[in-house]
Amino acid sequence: GDELWLAHLTPGPEKKSVFVIFEDRTAVHRAERARADFLANASHELRTPLTAVSGFIETMLGPARDDRESWDGFLEIMHQQTERMRHLVADLLSLSRIEFSEHRAPDTIIDLCDVTSRSILSLQPLAHDKKVHLDFDTQASDIPITASSDEISQVVQNLVSNAIKYSRDGGRVKVMTGTAPSMSEAGRLATRFIDGAGRSILLQPRASSEARAAWVRVEDCGEGIARKHLSRLGERFYRVDESRGGEIEGTGLGLAIVKHIMARHRGGLAVASKEGEGSVFGVWLPIADAESRLTDD
Ligand code: ADP
Repeated sequence: GDELWLAHLTPGPEKKSVFVIFEDRTAVHRAERARADFLANASHELRTPLTAVSGFIETMLGPARDDRESWDGFLEIMHQQTERMRHLVADLLSLSRIEFSEHRAPDTIIDLCDVTSRSILSLQPLAHDKKVHLDFDTQASDIPITASSDEISQVVQNLVSNAIKYSRDGGRVKVMTGTAPSMSEAGRLATRFIDGAGRSILLQPRASSEARAAWVRVEDCGEGIARKHLSRLGERFYRVDESRGGEIEGTGLGLAIVKHIMARHRGGLAVASKEGEGSVFGVWLPIADAESRLTDD
């Protein structure tokens, strides 16, 4: 439980007085624990492919030295494993960069539709490989938000690439953007209601501002996610089903990155899903107000 400890005991210089400061260390311990867990997870995730690669190198230098025919197969696996490490390191770097800048609010005005459509364009090849039909539809042609365009683009790419990855071959992924009169309404629009689906808000906007808001919604008709997993999805390295996850490339960091980026943008992130029917991931954030648009011009 909560731990209180004596931090200070000072007799005052003139009057005899004593200051006793109680400090709640629970949050500090929790943060230290999270950091230790994170390092352990990250090291473990990197060690697995590294062990595979060094194992193959040893084999190629030793028992399989003269068996050149089997080298192609070994190289193929080593290539896959180094790609896995490369993705992991890229995601770890993104995460630490975003955490580092999280206390600084973004200050440029960008168009959400523009960023979203460009991100989608860059994922068309991935959709094509999986024979997934990728659609984009927007309710408004210009949605000004105060944001980092690289980060919002990463949010869209992470959500859309998940929707493609976890879709069946030949499936359909639909992305929509729009505006709403308030943040709470945007949160509702960001995750379409599926009958009988579980819904979880992975990040609730800090300020319950009633300002106008923008949203992006990514829907897929993939395998869906069981209700019990929904609330844990934004945790680093959390993957729904490790055995299933093993087949589909991933680091388990994509949604944690989305969550951090949205926190920096004072936005929200939610998911609704039903097993066998599909998932809907949505993000929402305030629209840049007219004043900041003027100062930007
Ligand atoms: P990963 O790199 O494993 O995809 P993410 O953080 O992006 O990591 O996602 C975490 C987990 O959430 C995934 O491993 C997957 O199990 C589940 N998930 C995310 N998006 C979807 C989706 N659209 N459909 C089904 N499962 C999903």
